[in-house]
Amino acid sequence: MCKKEAETPRHLLLHCEVASELWSMFFCLSSINWTTPLTVKDAYESWSLWKVDKAIKKIWIMIPACIFWCIWLERNKRCFTNSLALA
Ligand SMILES: [Zn+2]
Repeated sequence: MCKKEAETPRHLLLHCEVASELWSMFFCLSSINWTTPLTVKDAYESWSLWKVDKAIKKIWIMIPACIFWCIWLERNKRCFTNSLALA
């Protein structure tokens, strides 16, 4: 997506500058400190260990998938329309 490194799941979904910016935006809005995990599996595992209020647990569990999906859509948009703007 950034055209600076090989596209691997971990780079695309976690470490790419575009993905990193999206993750940072989410954590800044939610006032959470998070160190980017090494792998996507580690991200899901660490995410599921987070202690959150029972009222938001079902939503909380879906957040990584939603962010991954947004990144995937943006990646496809850039690949197939040659656009560089994050929608
Ligand atoms: Zn990248």
